[in-house]
Amino acid sequence: MKYLSVKSKLNIDAQDGGFTTTLLSYCLENGILDAVVVVGDKNWKPVAYLATTPTELLKSTKSKYSISPNNKLLEYATENYDKVGLVGLPCHILGGLQFNLTLKVGLFCTKNFYYETIKNIIKERLGLNMDEVSKMNITKGKFVVETLKKKGFAGTEKVVYEIPIKEIEKLCNLGCRVCTDFSAKYADVSVGSVGSEDGWNTVIIRNKMVEDIINEMVEKGLIEVKETVDIKAVEKLENIKKKNEEINKCSAYFAVCPALF
Ligand SMILES: Cc1cc2nc3c(=O)[nH]c(=O)nc-3n(C[C@H](O)[C@H](O)[C@H](O)COP(=O)(O)OP(=O)(O)OC[C@H]3O[C@@H](n4cnc5c(N)ncnc54)[C@H](O)[C@@H]3O)c2cc1C
Ligand code: SF4
Repeated sequence: MKYLSVKSKLNIDAQDGGFTTTLLSYCLENGILDAVVVVGDKNWKPVAYLATTPTELLKSTKSKYSISPNNKLLEYATENYDKVGLVGLPCHILGGLQFNLTLKVGLFCTKNFYYETIKNIIKERLGLNMDEVSKMNITKGKFVVETLKKKGFAGTEKVVYEIPIKEIEKLCNLGCRVCTDFSAKYADVSVGSVGSEDGWNTVIIRNKMVEDIINEMVEKGLIEVKETVDIKAVEKLENIKKKNEEINKCSAYFAVCPALF
């Protein structure tokens, strides 16, 4: 396992360093993948789709903080294409293990929300409609929402809103409260932001295939890499989620022991 900070050299309007989209684009262009399951959106409501060209990937950039049914596409994808990729959260990657996938790109994840929940939070707490949002992020204990406000002839101005995550975390999807995987440990490569500078990705390389692809991408000038990841910051979040293993063991005990009720 190897940790790298990575930034794309392509001009992509991405969530963090743009590594995810650049990697997938490289794989589709070079025959490493025939198709990949990614997530677009309608007003930030996730729409999972199958991309077969780098251009088709462009509407999948940026994180949508809602549940996306990515794995519903895997049966169709693996029946119709030889080399299939999946981008997903740790729970998608776990579910994807039952399919024959060429590349699994896992995203770091602490929690996620139903679309209606996130829409209501943004409306009630910030007074914004979803079509006004230009980016969402959960970082450094805050849920951050950005909008691009028109500024006459001067173009647009970025406005940033923050809500402490503690105030909304109880509204997250029920399954996320018992989830034990932060860094998508079953993926071939895991990607997030924690542990790297703003505008960069933290990348965990989990096998030789991905290491070779990344080396080729560096040689071709597609990405910039640094060995500066704050691994402890990643491990801290991994350990917080691992604590749920104990809660799950207790739940299993109660589930199999009806005499207790
Ligand atoms: C719900 C959620 C929670 C996250 N929590 C954290 C966190 O706590 N800490 C952290 O460091 N990183 C977290 N991430 C990962 C981070 O937001 C970025 O996705 C990651 O750094 C990759 O950035 P990028 O610039 O390479 O992405 P881009 O190149 O912009 O590509 C974004 C990719 O994300 C995929 N995607 C978007 N929304 C979803 C979704 N809802 N479900 C599945 N796939 C999706 C798209 O298909 C696309 O391939 C989270 C992501 C999501 C979606
Ligand atoms: S916290 Fe776990 S269950 Fe919830 S979306 Fe993230 S990976 Fe999936």
